[in-house]
Amino acid sequence: MSQSATDAFEIAQFDSSIDVAEVAEDTYQCTSFSNVTAFDTAEGLVLIDTCLPAFAPHVAAELREHTDSPVHTAIYTHGHVDHAHALDEYLLDGQEPPTVIAHEAMADRFDRYARTETYNDVINGRQFAGDPAAMESHSLSEGNSFGWPEHPPTTWYSDELTITVGGVTFELHHARGETDDMTWVYCPDRNVLCSGDLVIGAVPNAGNPQKVQRYPWEWADALHEMAATEADVLCPGHSEPIVDDAAEIEHRLLSYVDYLDTIVEATLEKLNDGAPPHVDIVREIEFPDSEEPWLQPEYDSPEFIARNVIRYYGGWWSGRPSELKPARRAALAEEIAELVGGAERLASRAEELVTADQRLACHLADYALEAAPENETVGEAVANVYEERSDTVDDLMSANIYASAAEYAKEGRRFR
Ligand SMILES: [Zn+2]
Repeated sequence: MSQSATDAFEIAQFDSSIDVAEVAEDTYQCTSFSNVTAFDTAEGLVLIDTCLPAFAPHVAAELREHTDSPVHTAIYTHGHVDHAHALDEYLLDGQEPPTVIAHEAMADRFDRYARTETYNDVINGRQFAGDPAAMESHSLSEGNSFGWPEHPPTTWYSDELTITVGGVTFELHHARGETDDMTWVYCPDRNVLCSGDLVIGAVPNAGNPQKVQRYPWEWADALHEMAATEADVLCPGHSEPIVDDAAEIEHRLLSYVDYLDTIVEATLEKLNDGAPPHVDIVREIEFPDSEEPWLQPEYDSPEFIARNVIRYYGGWWSGRPSELKPARRAALAEEIAELVGGAERLASRAEELVTADQRLACHLADYALEAAPENETVGEAVANVYEERSDTVDDLMSANIYASAAEYAKEGRRFR
């Protein structure tokens, strides 16, 4: 891992080392923070994704140790900054502009990011760095990283598209999964499957609490279709490739299908059982639990996947009557604090509870900070509670949101 790459962005728990391997004839998988696949053909490279702008120069340099072909065509698997925003790094000096292909929904995504740039800075600071202010001084938020990329798509497609470059065929398939603009690519001539972030070597990122709707049921359908290719090389959007092992690829893809289907069905069953408050639904579901290292809730959480199912089928209201048109948080917290004898009492009870019941402890911690954000004793206790929770939770999204909560408490301000 080069020093400049790590300096650019501290992403807790992400492996940002770079490895380039020839996974099939003239086909290179660049494994880093996010992955790039390069198919060398007689007409030039077909490149799948670009990696993060901060890491792309290093990934491109490693790839260029293996091939000096120009980029003929680039395919963006979805419009996230770690996949679609650094094509320039891979282009040779003076080469023809490449064809860039993406699903047609990507245009709206780029427009939306441009409209919500500051929002995205904050939520991505929370999600990736455990610090809401992390993105403000960060290279990721410079230029148009969250709007349109420097090399936007030149060819848009809707459902499926087959292209041939240098005599090699690529089948592009649209799917809604983590995003509504996802493409997975199958190259039958080399029997290589590029899944984009439909496979990330962990529990699918189908829940993310701060982002727009995800589609775990359609995601499962796409994984089924991918399994039907019987590919013997799988190049995922994140994590290591699987090479020359069709049985293992099928096993993993269908395991992800089972995982998602189980959560979707359990959530719908609870929704249909009298439309209870959302919090009751996610607490009552028995979430699937796997021993497999590639199916752990390292990044997203199964509880959040259930939330996405609820959101899609059931709207935004929590189901708790007072939260339909709620009081200001501070007003409620001040009322509760006064009833129990002060915000410090709430904060100290939160600290007492954190070993036995972190969930309960955090509710009290929130009320304490919301009632008295500038009280240093309260801030310290709340920070302790959230640091403890951040350290013990499985998934990175929760860990970093809780770490952000501790930051707010230390700064003497409510979470916002
Ligand atoms: Zn990604």
